[in-house]
Amino acid sequence: MSRIAFIGLGHMGGPMALNLLKAGHDLAVFDLVPAAIKTLVDAGATEADSAQTAVENAEVVVSMLPASKHVEGLYLGETGLLKYVSNNTLVLECSTIAPESARKVAQAAHECNVRMIDAPVSGGTGGAVAGTLTFIVGGDADDLEAARPYLEKMGKNIFHAGAAGAGQVAKICNNMLLGILMAGTSEALALGVKNGLDPKVLSDIIAKSSGRNWATELYNPWPGVMEHAPASKGYAGGFGVDLMLKDLGLAAEAALTTRASVPLGELARNLYSMHSAQGNGAQDFSSILNLFKK
Ligand code: NAD
Repeated sequence: MSRIAFIGLGHMGGPMALNLLKAGHDLAVFDLVPAAIKTLVDAGATEADSAQTAVENAEVVVSMLPASKHVEGLYLGETGLLKYVSNNTLVLECSTIAPESARKVAQAAHECNVRMIDAPVSGGTGGAVAGTLTFIVGGDADDLEAARPYLEKMGKNIFHAGAAGAGQVAKICNNMLLGILMAGTSEALALGVKNGLDPKVLSDIIAKSSGRNWATELYNPWPGVMEHAPASKGYAGGFGVDLMLKDLGLAAEAALTTRASVPLGELARNLYSMHSAQGNGAQDFSSILNLFKK
């Protein structure tokens, strides 16, 4: 069993860390929010008073933070973790961030003889709890093989997308599609309900017809249709509107850099941006339904 430092214990990081703990690993955990640490400590992890303390003697470091600026802040600079970890430490950076940022941190890690992969995830909070996440990895194949036993404790599907940053490119493409399909599903459900249909009946029909998708199968945006979906819990937990907005922004940046056309991705980004501006940034992203319900 390994000594693992886990940094960032939010909606995703918390349950991911719990699965590593359940597998018998020795975990030192840190988050800026004390309540997030408590759940893990109650389950047997050791509380660290800083990220720097958490990585002392760690063989593996896992981070799950909101965005590029948090990841660069954690690893780079005079107090960055790359200055504190031992040679050959394996770093699994699981946040969804800009590919350029992932490459920058991976290059700095390489210069410090630290092995690092970008390993963003798909599968939502349900997948994080169940240990069924999909990992989309960028980095050296050897480093992925070293990381595989740990990733397998948190996920079921592991893909090697390519060199450093490639995991992030694939993840951004996936999430652009997710943002579009959640908005599209919401639009269709609201149309059906306004025309007299029951949202559950319509959802069941779509789930077995050609419009079916991840939202209609696992994450229905209409409250009450799926008991365990964030929509049925007041859109609490899950994947925040502002995190989706960040990912659609990353897709837009990637499109600008390569002169790719992403008209639907841009429309989705504007919809989530309006929704966030109306004070819904912290709600689950399936609350985009409310734009169409009104
Ligand atoms: P979250 O906001 O719930 O959790 C992030 C955690 O990081 C918070 O607890 C915060 O306090 C902590 N944090 C921030 N800066 C820190 C620092 N410097 N040191 C220590 N802790 C710090 O976010 P989340 O939903 O868990 O998402 C995390 C990442 O996973 C994001 O990049 C997101 O895009 C991605 N993601 C989320 C989902 C989802 O369904 N929520 C799904 C796939 C991918």
